[in-house]
Amino acid sequence: MTPDPTKAYVRCPNKDCAKVLSFKVFPNYKDAPIECPHCHTRGKVRDFIELRPRVLADSTRQPVQAPLQSPSLPPQSQKPSAQATMRLHEQHEAVVTLENVDTGESHNLLPGDNTVGRRTATPRAQILFDDPEHYMSRCQVVITVRSVAAGTEVLLRDAGSANGTFVNEVRLPEGTMVRLTDGDTFVMGKHLYRLTISRQPMHVRRASDTILLH
Ligand SMILES: [Zn+2]
Repeated sequence: MTPDPTKAYVRCPNKDCAKVLSFKVFPNYKDAPIECPHCHTRGKVRDFIELRPRVLADSTRQPVQAPLQSPSLPPQSQKPSAQATMRLHEQHEAVVTLENVDTGESHNLLPGDNTVGRRTATPRAQILFDDPEHYMSRCQVVITVRSVAAGTEVLLRDAGSANGTFVNEVRLPEGTMVRLTDGDTFVMGKHLYRLTISRQPMHVRRASDTILLH
């Protein structure tokens, strides 16, 4: 591919992930926080492995439209998450974030189904939250993010959790889907979670914000 000189390319430092990510460069970007959209590893840009555009140009003939596809990974290991991220880019989807209001831990959700559960040694969900009390199931809910004519639609359903998911203090019956809008909250385990749907464009907002990859 032909690297875009206005973009920086970094590799996720998580060895099991190692995806190549790109974003528009801006002043002092190496000190900005970044989150891998594939495995949700977080850190500063300088903690990620920066790739030189020249190396990318020499190592692959992929088109520039696919900057998130790493040339060094076998196609089967990168396919689903790379596609999800490309959809995010192409459609300029809103950025959907789920935050544990009590602890501040937050993760971005990707287009499609996102399974959310407790972080353990044997995780069963894609999006993992710390839950020391173990009231949250390993796969607690499925949150679906999709584009509709009116914008981005977010749907929540319980995935058969042990202790239930509560919306407006009512336990969500298993299999029932509820639509969430920006700012909606619900309870999983002992904690309150808040969904944020951001309509800001897919680039850096403030230096203190996580970089939005595109
Ligand atoms: Zn990663």
